[in-house]
Amino acid sequence: MTELILKPGKERSVMRHHPWIFAGSVETLHGRAHAGDTVEVMSEHGKMLGRGAFSPKSQIRARMWSFDPQESIDHAFFKRRVAQSVARRQAHPHLRNQEGVRLIHGESDGLPGVIADRYGDVVVLQLTSAGAEKWRDAIVAGLAQATDCKCVFERSDSDVRGLEGLEPRVGVAYGSMPAERIVINENGVRMEVDVEFGHKTGFYLDQRDNRRLTGELAAGRSVLNCFCYTAGFSLQALAGGASSVLSIDSSGPALATAQRNLELNPQLDASRASWWEADVFEALRQLRAEERKFDLIILDPPKFAPSAAHAQRAARAYKDINLLGFRLLNPGGLLMTYSCSGGIGQELFQSIVAGASIDAGVDARIIHRLSAAPDHPIGLAVPEGEYLKGLACQISG
Ligand code: SAH
Repeated sequence: MTELILKPGKERSVMRHHPWIFAGSVETLHGRAHAGDTVEVMSEHGKMLGRGAFSPKSQIRARMWSFDPQESIDHAFFKRRVAQSVARRQAHPHLRNQEGVRLIHGESDGLPGVIADRYGDVVVLQLTSAGAEKWRDAIVAGLAQATDCKCVFERSDSDVRGLEGLEPRVGVAYGSMPAERIVINENGVRMEVDVEFGHKTGFYLDQRDNRRLTGELAAGRSVLNCFCYTAGFSLQALAGGASSVLSIDSSGPALATAQRNLELNPQLDASRASWWEADVFEALRQLRAEERKFDLIILDPPKFAPSAAHAQRAARAYKDINLLGFRLLNPGGLLMTYSCSGGIGQELFQSIVAGASIDAGVDARIIHRLSAAPDHPIGLAVPEGEYLKGLACQISG
């Protein structure tokens, strides 16, 4: 077995169960290893720290599979890890009966580079690391066994695969796709999920609980939903009794799905919904020029800062939309604002939003701190896993 020897002192992070070994921490490799091969990770003194997957092309040179020197990395290992991950969702009362649920959340579930989302009978799998790619068959078999799904559909088309030297792969990995479109019930609202062409695995499951809260807060309010995608927040707001909901997105296909989703829910008052295909940065300025006001504004933009290197430019973009958002609020109004950028931490995000409120000339306080739903756990040893943060702010009346 090939050994990966760490530089002096670099074993500390591994001993704290952080799964990433950066290229700069590696002293040498004893033996040969191809992309995705399992290596034994050793301290400079020859202490065996566990086993990981070798990734020659990536700055993250290895990802730990196990911190237990006794544990072998084989088919049985993946079957076990997948089953445990699925069982954790089964054990949670908020997740047990969800039609849309994340079954495997990468590092936080002990499976770096593996994402699996369940939508009804279909599990969508995304593999993003060389190690995960190597064990693809075992992971697919594990998912088929641990769930009673009819299909595992692979959406391994994320850009990050390029960093690992992996080509994109999209298609059925197990079973067959149902003929009818996939529809899930989320908090009482029916939502179509396009697993083949939708964003990520088709849907943003991480916002499930925040969408429910939005519904609860929306009663009687006029709502503006920016970056609406397929209208998850918009439909929850309508279900919660919003007086009107204006939804903005720059993607025509997303808005088309959004409107189909509204039709899928005849219990909602469609006359209260309007749609606008536009760039949010421009749309907010236009609304300001028209002196429009809203009681509840949602800002759920895409990742402006994939890593800390993009943080400055991203900070300006967050400041811009939040400033405009605050200005468009009626007295007593709510701004529900999010960042899913790994490169922008919770403290920085709060300070950007605080700066935006000052510049907008409003007095605001945080009434809810928001994060991803519990099927997107954060490994205690992997704080980088905390990507989604949100603030519900209320301005003075
Ligand atoms: N809130 C959504 C998820 C939002 S994902 C939900 O709950 O499902 C981010 C969305 O922003 C995508 O739909 C994307 O099309 C859209 N988007 C990205 N840049 C944009 C821009 N500059 N203006 C408007 N929409 C944009």
